Amino acid sequence: MATPKRVEVLGAPVDCVDLEGALAAIDTLIAGPEARAVVAVNPEKVIKAQSDPVLRRSLASAGLLIPDGIGVVYAVRLLRHERLERVPGAELMPAICARAALRGYPVFLFGASREVNEKASAVLAKEYPGLVIAGHHHGYVDDAAMPDLVAAINASGAQVLFVALGSPRQELWMEKYLPELRHVRVCQGVGGTFDVIAGRVRRAPLAFRRANLEWFYRLVTEPRRAIRQIVLPRFTYQVFREKLFG
Ligand code: UDP
Repeated sequence: MATPKRVEVLGAPVDCVDLEGALAAIDTLIAGPEARAVVAVNPEKVIKAQSDPVLRRSLASAGLLIPDGIGVVYAVRLLRHERLERVPGAELMPAICARAALRGYPVFLFGASREVNEKASAVLAKEYPGLVIAGHHHGYVDDAAMPDLVAAINASGAQVLFVALGSPRQELWMEKYLPELRHVRVCQGVGGTFDVIAGRVRRAPLAFRRANLEWFYRLVTEPRRAIRQIVLPRFTYQVFREKLFG
């Protein structure tokens, strides 16, 4: 049974894993007794959690906290001297699908527009022969219709649920509905990953990813993210302050 080491960065928890370690942790969660969240940790969430008790609670109760942002990876190495690699949520999701196809974990895709949701489901089914897509549903569901959706997820028998509603919507959804899920054991919040799989949005070119500059590419190509990344200098400042003054 693999349970990764969990450390703290500026008050937020993060698991010291690489992709293989994350997959091993997924296997452990699948064998567990209840639905647990897989949450991507990045500098934006670390800073937000300092003033947002709901996000803090959702991080504290997560089953796996992947180091999704390169800033978090550097901060853990610098402050905690632990080994870990960046595990982007957008890469963990297909890796979980490959694992699910191999080990027979049925999956459910919840989120994104109807068109993207259907396309992403079709792409995954084609890419991972043997993958059981127990169900899928778009992400534009109002509160009144949510009990029916939860019932459908339960009836599908899915053990892995991908929730693509964006942050913090997907974390709030998981916080609220995880206790109602009967067969799901792993619930990953995947943000805009269905859009990437469906081919509607492109990830940064490989050269940017290899240089750990995916964040910069997104900043330039999706300026609305510039607002969100305004926390990066604050994150960097806090990391160095802790390094220098404890
Ligand atoms: N979305 C959804 N329901 C909503 C709002 C958003 O399903 O009520 C979907 C949206 O279609 C998109 C994803 O959530 O597929 C959000 O992607 P974004 O890139 O904003 O998320 P991030 O990765 O930034 O958290």
